[in-house]
Amino acid sequence: MSYDDDNIFAKILRGEIPNDTVYEDDAVLAFRDIAPQAPVHVLVIPKGAYVSLDDFTQKASAEEVGRFFKRVGEIARSLGLEKDGFRTIANTGVDGGQEVPHFHVHLCGGRRLGRMIAKA
Ligand code: AMP
Repeated sequence: MSYDDDNIFAKILRGEIPNDTVYEDDAVLAFRDIAPQAPVHVLVIPKGAYVSLDDFTQKASAEEVGRFFKRVGEIARSLGLEKDGFRTIANTGVDGGQEVPHFHVHLCGGRRLGRMIAKA
């Protein structure tokens, strides 16, 4: 799947759509989900044009992948999520229920989140 420059997170990265930023550096942006599923629901995205976790881990260097996931952990701690725990989700493709085709990690916490996957 090729990267769609018109996806909503690409527009956020270009500053065309506002976001509630939690953290930003040269490679990573973290912002609050517009439709939170938990008291804390933050999305962490690389600034590079990657469609999904599958795409990211194929095309990005090990250094870039490692740096990204170090940031995910740091952002979780900056939000205090490590105290009571949290859930990290990276939906990929159709079966994964991915809606926005720019790789992102959900950080959800602030309450007991229940079962990992609802029964169909
Ligand atoms: P996924 O289903 O894993 O692709 O998740 C996409 C997430 O992006 C959903 O949780 C949406 O609520 C969230 N989302 C969509 N548009 C925006 C936006 N403009 N700002 C923040 N979050 C958004």
